[in-house]
This record gives sequence, C-alpha cells and structure tokens, in this order.
Amino acid sequence: MRGLSIVLATILAGCTAVPRERRLTVIPGASRPVVAQIGNYQDAVDAIVSVMTEDLRMPVPRTSFTLYFYPYREAFAQGLTEQFNTDPTLARAIAKTALGRIRQTKDGKQFLVNKEILEDLRWPERIHVLAHEITHIVQYELADGRLTGDLWLIEGFADWVAYQVLEALGLDTFSRRKHLQIAQVKHEREHSPLSQMVTAQDWEALNARYGSAIPYAQAFLATDLLIAQRGLSAVIAYFRHVPYAGDHIQNFQAAFGVELATFQHEFTAYLESLLGWSQSNAAPLGLFPNRPPHDIAQQSLRPTVTGSLLFRTDVRLRIYPQAHGRCCAHSALAAARKPDWVSKSYAVRAMALAALSIV
Ligand SMILES: [Zn+2]
Repeated sequence: MRGLSIVLATILAGCTAVPRERRLTVIPGASRPVVAQIGNYQDAVDAIVSVMTEDLRMPVPRTSFTLYFYPYREAFAQGLTEQFNTDPTLARAIAKTALGRIRQTKDGKQFLVNKEILEDLRWPERIHVLAHEITHIVQYELADGRLTGDLWLIEGFADWVAYQVLEALGLDTFSRRKHLQIAQVKHEREHSPLSQMVTAQDWEALNARYGSAIPYAQAFLATDLLIAQRGLSAVIAYFRHVPYAGDHIQNFQAAFGVELATFQHEFTAYLESLLGWSQSNAAPLGLFPNRPPHDIAQQSLRPTVTGSLLFRTDVRLRIYPQAHGRCCAHSALAAARKPDWVSKSYAVRAMALAALSIV
C-alpha cells in the first residue's frame, strides 16, 4: 500500500492541470449590455469598457487578452511559475488568496485566474476583479508595454477605476467602497510611506507584514486624493510619461506638478484626518472627480473660540457635487492658505484647522 501511495503521490505531483482558456476582446464603443443579465465574461468586459470610455473618458485601446482558468490553487501557483516565471515559493503564497494575475507576455496579454476562488464570487465581484485587471491593460498600453511606475499608483488607480465601474453599473457605490478601505486602514496603527510602496519587492514586504488588504487600501486612498487634487487626466498623463521618464520621482512631478515628497506629506495629513474624524462624518462620493464646485452661498461665520485660540474668517461655502477633496486635511490646508472656501460637511472643522494654521 505504501508503495502505491508513493507512486500515486509522485504521479499527482508531476501532473500539470491544463487550464481552460477563453479569449476576450476589449472594444471601445461596444454597446453596454443590460447589467442584470451579465452572465459571461465577454459581456462583463463590454460593460466595464463602456464605463471606462463613456463615463470616465479614459483612452482604452482596442485589444484582447486570454483568460486561463486554473481549477485549484496549486494549479494556479504552478501556472504563475510556468507562464510568468514567478518563484515557486512566492507563487504558492500568492495563490493562497489572489484571484488572478495579468501580464503582458510575448504571446500576448495573459490573465491567469484562480478559478477555485473567482467562480465562487457573484458577478458584481467578478466585474470588480476584471475592471481592476483591465485598468492594468490600459496602463500597459499607455506606457507602451513598459509599465514601471510607482506600484501604489498602479494598484490604487486600478481599484479607483474598478469602484467607479461598480457605481456606474449600479452594482455598488464608490462611497461604500471608500469607507471599507478607510475601515481597513483604521485597523493599523502605523502606515507605510508611499516611498516604501514603489517596487514589487516593497509590495511583497508589505503583504508579508500586513496582508494584502492594507497596502491596497492605502494605495487606493492615496490615488483618490491625487485625483481629487490633480484630476484623472493627470494620472493618464503620468502613465503616458512612464517610458520616457528619467526616474519615478521626476515622472511624478512632471505629471502632477508637485514633488512626490510634498504629496506624501499631504497624504499623511489626509490619512490622519480620515482616521481622526468619525465615520459618520465621512461624506458620500460621487462619480466625477473633475466636476467643478458649485457655489451656492456666501456666508460669514461668527467668531469662534476654541481653547485659547480666537479665530475669525469669512467663509464662502462651496458645495461640491462629490466629496473628493472634501473631508481631508488638504482641504483645510488649502483653506488656510486661501480661506475662502470650505466644504459643507466640514466647514467648522476645516475652519478650525485653517485658523490653527493661520495662527
Ligand atoms: Zn492589480
């Protein structure tokens, strides 16, 4: 019996599960299917691409990719090693939780999926995964296939787009997803600076230390802040510049007009403000970050006393149709430099911070 077991084990270990393949096309301008009827991957891709092009105005290339469905985790790990040259130990670690990985290879774009996990999910979650990965395809194409930007922005942008897709298709709200990410970050007392979230090695170290949820949450929140400040078009410009940039710091400054170190500073302040302020005050988010604010009133707020500080300023209320840039210290700092606006929800807090900064 023992001999038979050894023979069987040897045979099984040597087996390679052949993945089922499915080729999918990315066609800008394809009509959007009825969301409730989406029941196959090509419909899901068409729906995602229609949101990217029509709602977000992203430059999506006409292209295709192949899905490889590996039936269980071990086979997926083996696929990562064989197709993407991933170290076997790392591949096994990835396969424990990852739904899939996409790469541009000499044979085209390959998206290896862990069928055991992916097909347990309902379609809205599968659409989230696909939207995230299709954003990586767009990033590759924008960067002429030589994508080497900061990983926090690559991953953060992929989730940012995926959440916009879910909202546009009526499958979830961007606001709820953002609050989930804030809740994730609240679990951790310390947060890694963006400068330690740049390379694949950085990312692996963070995953080992915190698990994958925290780095993704931080990356998303940083990207969301960046888009609130500089707009979606600046992120697109960043990925276009990647192949020509001398280094990632220079590329960041060229695309966003601000030094990476300065943004890091602003993000830290933003994170602290998010974590310090109560969840109930977190404002709902809308779909379009670049929509201009709508001035509805100009009011003078009466002088306020907090502790020993006396401060007074005239505040013009500007109501933003979305919350990007609203509930953050960046807003307060902007108000401090030019105290003519604050957000509706955070008028008093922003004023307080502005005044403290002025004092
Ligand atoms: Zn990703």
